[in-house]
Amino acid sequence: MSDCLFCKIIAGEIPGAKVYEDDEVFAFRDINPEAPVHILVTPKAHIESVDDIHGRDEAHFVAKIFEAIPKIAKSEGLVSGYRVIANNGPDAHQSVRHLHFHVLGGCDLGAKVL
Ligand code: AMP
Ligand code: ZN
Repeated sequence: MSDCLFCKIIAGEIPGAKVYEDDEVFAFRDINPEAPVHILVTPKAHIESVDDIHGRDEAHFVAKIFEAIPKIAKSEGLVSGYRVIANNGPDAHQSVRHLHFHVLGGCDLGAKVL
């Protein structure tokens, strides 16, 4: 999608600190990290949010993302764990309407999600 920030990062039109890429998945460092390791894992295809995961195609992308996440975590040295979060919609303050999973780690993240 032409006016999507993450589509532009994936296409290399805007710089991004890439940490992983395969045919369908792209991952890069969050520009405003909230943990020592904070990576955004996205489908290369433009899917807006968790609400838009319908049918086999989108489910396939999500499966590929969750196959990639442990590989990324391992390569980032997250040996004692990490947290995966997807913000969806206004109450969750989703600010970029291209599906992405935050992978956070590199310290004790605390027992609570919020
Ligand atoms: P969310 O609020 O869940 O939509 O998350 C969007 C994330 O994208 C935020 O954590 C931002 O810090 C991050 N972000 C925004 N612009 C960029 C960028 N140009 N490169 C990397 N991360 C970004
Ligand atoms: Zn997009």
